[in-house]
Amino acid sequence: MDRSPAREDAALTPQQRKMRKLGLVAADDFVLHLPLRYEDETQVTPIGRLIPGMWAQVEGEVTRCEVAYRPRRQLVAAIRDETGELGLRYLNFYPSQQKQLAVGRRIRARGEARGGFFGMEMVHPRTTVAGDDAPLPDRLTPVYPTTEGLPQATLRKAIAAALKTADLADTLPQPLLQRYGLMPFGESVRLLHAPPPEVATESLVDRAHPAWLRIKFDELLAQQLSLARARAARLDKRAPPLARSTAPDGLVARLLATLPFALTGAQQRVREEIAADLARPHPMQRLLQGDVGSGKTVVAALAAAQAIDNGFQAALMAPTEILAEQHFRKLVGWLEPLGVTVAWLTGSLAAKARREAAALIESGEARLAVGTQALIQQHVQFARLGLSIVDEQHRFGVGQRLALRNKGGEDEIFPHQLMMSATPIPRTLAMTFFADLDVSVIDELPPGRVPVITKLLSDARRDEVVARIREAARAGRQVYWVCPLVEESETLELQTAVDTYEALRHALPELRVGLVHGRLPTAEKAAVMQAFKDGEVDLLVATTVIEVGVDVPNASLMVIEHAERFGLAQLHQLRGRVGRGAAESVCVLLYQGPLSQVAKARLRTMHETTDGFEIARRDLELRGPGEFLGVRQSGLALMRFADLENDLEIAEQAHEAAAQLQAEAPDVVSAHLSRWMRGREDFLKA
Ligand code: ADP
Ligand code: MG
Repeated sequence: MDRSPAREDAALTPQQRKMRKLGLVAADDFVLHLPLRYEDETQVTPIGRLIPGMWAQVEGEVTRCEVAYRPRRQLVAAIRDETGELGLRYLNFYPSQQKQLAVGRRIRARGEARGGFFGMEMVHPRTTVAGDDAPLPDRLTPVYPTTEGLPQATLRKAIAAALKTADLADTLPQPLLQRYGLMPFGESVRLLHAPPPEVATESLVDRAHPAWLRIKFDELLAQQLSLARARAARLDKRAPPLARSTAPDGLVARLLATLPFALTGAQQRVREEIAADLARPHPMQRLLQGDVGSGKTVVAALAAAQAIDNGFQAALMAPTEILAEQHFRKLVGWLEPLGVTVAWLTGSLAAKARREAAALIESGEARLAVGTQALIQQHVQFARLGLSIVDEQHRFGVGQRLALRNKGGEDEIFPHQLMMSATPIPRTLAMTFFADLDVSVIDELPPGRVPVITKLLSDARRDEVVARIREAARAGRQVYWVCPLVEESETLELQTAVDTYEALRHALPELRVGLVHGRLPTAEKAAVMQAFKDGEVDLLVATTVIEVGVDVPNASLMVIEHAERFGLAQLHQLRGRVGRGAAESVCVLLYQGPLSQVAKARLRTMHETTDGFEIARRDLELRGPGEFLGVRQSGLALMRFADLENDLEIAEQAHEAAAQLQAEAPDVVSAHLSRWMRGREDFLKA
């Protein structure tokens, strides 16, 4: 028998084809096609009691039905009951509708009542024929997600049929249901598709009914299990085992010996975690989280050194040129004196320089390559890539991250991957959405850091701020001035930066003022940054290009203009540019009122805390997890029923249950995944 998809497809009716488009193929799919909402068709409202704006079902006899031109062609009808008359109007209509509305017929109409020009009416109501053989339903009517040309009635019938044939047995063992107080699966789906009259409508609508809770639990559990599978699949892949070298003349040992500081306890700990991962013959996939200034770069350098000690190359990719350059300078400073060649590769390099860098990488002469996305371009081939490091991982799409992973050189052997992020992801989110990653956290700042003091000032007090800058410069300190974000126009943003630069130069003639923005040619940008670093510039006027990574310990004052336009994460990143030295630092948030509630909450948070995790937690509250994570990376788009804003607690339970099932009941795992993840696993793996 020919079971090719094309053949099967040809045998489908148009309706079946539409259902397939909705992902409805097997009985299981129909069972899990749950209502979006419900309509109450159990009640009939007397026409005389309708008020404009009210959703209702009415029943009456058709008194009129005609095609009118007023001025557009439309179908105009009316029905009447003992209490009054109601107009029905259709701007688009089928002959069948016209037939259904034959004068004298008793029909039911559902829709929103409006006070129209010709009295009370409903526009495009849904109608059914009423009569003795069509009693009012005794339960809520489900409304399903559907697609053009696939009527609710057809879906309802197909789903009712599937509920009879599908296997509704529970995938989860009884003790687990008991522990989490879960309703059985079969009972839950039956209830949701056809809620009995006594079920409170609200609990169905806001998805708080135990039947919904069970469905959400199942969905979140499936997601956890499938992430765990992805992780297991990774552990099946091979990577070069990069043993930790203990030799005193090894690069790791020499780097540690020459560093101008001792690692903090937290740096020690995460370094151990990473070193142990690298020594394994499976690709590491570890997320290194640490607040701004916590010292992630040196941890990355030590990991790179371990790869190099084993005869492999390492690559470090950063999302912006300025950030990549900071890394490059720091790494060159640490590693070149120890005899390591570091290649530099970005998109803005001249063709010749780019070719040279690519050649160094390809020949293996460069043991370390630092750069931007240019590192993952087609023509760059590594001789022996053992470790890829991605900074500020959340700024890259999943695809870019995977591309660097696939630059290994040898087939079937994958490099280890270290992702770094200064955006602390709250624990529950990390555990639910990055369950396929290992996470290391640097939860301690290098010693001697004095917390940054944050002041909120209205824009009207600009002069005070300028005086403050003068004072700081007089004391030999350096200052950042961050120009306002102009979301709608990059050109305007640039113009604002240039104007601000001119104005500040004018106001502070005795200061050396520099300007840096995204449109500046790379060489100039680098020159300005270097001058600031070398203390030759007192005041650096900048756009948000300095948001990440810039490291000038002598800078102790930062002014952020129009702070109300920035997001919390961004403000935190920006503020992290000061407070890097021993001097007490100040961050002035200049704002212009009136402030929205959210802007107020953000500024207050910045004033109250410098703890990145606390800020992330509040950010999550203000923005919600979808936006916080970027839906694409989180797999959030795959969640049909659960929503993390309200269901974090269920997510935690599902996480716990997943771990247990994984360890104790592999057959339960398979059964659950096959019910919930039909054809979707690949997507989750990315
Ligand atoms: P981030 O985690 O934000 O990337 P960096 O790696 O840029 O932080 O480190 C911030 C600053 O702290 C750098 O100047 C770095 O050299 C310095 N640093 C890192 N670790 C330590 C340490 N253990 N003791 C003192 N200074 C450190
Ligand atoms: Mg950094």
